[in-house]
Amino acid sequence: MAEILRGAPVAAGIQEALVPRVSMLRGSGVVPTLAIVRVGERPDDLSYERAAEKRCGGLGIDVRKHVLPVSCSQRELEDVLRRVSSDPLVHGCLLFRPLPEGLDEEAASAALDPSKDVDAITEGSLLSTLAGRGDGFAPCTAEAVVALLDHYGVGIDGAEACVVGRSLVIGRPVGALLLSRNATVTVCHTHTRDLAGCCRRADIVVAAVGRAATIGPSCVREGQVVVDVGINWDEGAGRLVGDVDFDAVEPIVRGVTPVPGGVGSVTTSILARHVVEAAERTFA
Ligand code: NAP
Repeated sequence: MAEILRGAPVAAGIQEALVPRVSMLRGSGVVPTLAIVRVGERPDDLSYERAAEKRCGGLGIDVRKHVLPVSCSQRELEDVLRRVSSDPLVHGCLLFRPLPEGLDEEAASAALDPSKDVDAITEGSLLSTLAGRGDGFAPCTAEAVVALLDHYGVGIDGAEACVVGRSLVIGRPVGALLLSRNATVTVCHTHTRDLAGCCRRADIVVAAVGRAATIGPSCVREGQVVVDVGINWDEGAGRLVGDVDFDAVEPIVRGVTPVPGGVGSVTTSILARHVVEAAERTFA
């Protein structure tokens, strides 16, 4: 039976470490502040927004919401991002993506000051993540994967890691973060010839696919740690599931994250940590 690598204790550890940092900032007259920019009312965005508000609010981080209608123009969106960028009282900004059709994500991202980009939507933050420089912020979910591995004492240095998925939001940055921690990383995608073989060779498997049961028992072996980033709605079961066939994989591997209750529950704590760090950097 595998160890179930739950996100809650990881999130609790991150939050605990933030308490004195927030108190130091507030004591110096700086209220760490996150701006959330949302276009439309996508249920996924609303649910993440609620979680982010709750997490930040509980830590003494202020949240300011900017909500635009789906019919907003590119100019209106960029104006909001420029206002957030130039507001000295805002330290971090979260822009929900994907944006509705007709809005240009790349152009919108360029309107945001990279120093406030707490979820790596700007080219500068992504480059910093890929280069392992650490001057920008990595995407929160990607960093949550690494935080979870660290919390459970999973050795990354020298490990073979297989990341399934190559999106700029998760797959590639997770690969880059693991590589900068000296893992040997394979990144798989839809053209990978032998997905099961690539996964089985690895010590750490990270699934960021967006398709239920992509990682089944043929993809895993004893001793592995499997991190499931996927969030999929299982119509038949009427519940959220990951990309890993949990019931089939769990009896084989050394450790596996649940969905829900795994990586997803760490992400907002990483977001809060980024906002606090961005606020601290204004002192530097
Ligand atoms: P995405 O942009 O759709 O990327 C999916 C990746 O998976 C692509 O690179 C795709 O390959 C690859 N892929 C799809 N089917 C595959 C298969 N059968 N075999 C191998 N590779 C396959 O998705 P994303 O934005 O990265 O999100 C991935 C998952 O994470 C989704 O379920 C999303 O809901 C979830 N998510 C979780 C959190 C969290 O906090 N836990 C946050 C954000 C997203 P190609 O590049 O070849 O198409």
